[in-house]
Amino acid sequence: MSRHTQPGVYLLHFDTPYAHAQHYLGYADKITHRVVRHQTGQASPLTRAARKAGIVLILARTWPGTNRYWERKLHNQHNNRRLCPICTPHAHTQPTQKPYKMPKGYTDPF
Ligand SMILES: [Zn+2]
Repeated sequence: MSRHTQPGVYLLHFDTPYAHAQHYLGYADKITHRVVRHQTGQASPLTRAARKAGIVLILARTWPGTNRYWERKLHNQHNNRRLCPICTPHAHTQPTQKPYKMPKGYTDPF
């Protein structure tokens, strides 16, 4: 199994900014499948609009094996650019906190 066919959080980088957005951070059960859906405009309104504008979506970084808590944690930092190896050289080597484990009794609301 490829590391990208497992669940995890992923970061898309737009080759050109759309409005003020240049990144999309998401979680998927199968990262590669979700990225294909982004590329074909099926996964989110933002990436659909970006694709319609001719913007190329690049899978910049993944956190395989992480969950929605991890996604929210990264979202709450409001600093996708710092997480992105395309925008920030050596972003991969920046320390990141360990992913959350699912809390006991957690049920996926989505
Ligand atoms: Zn970037």
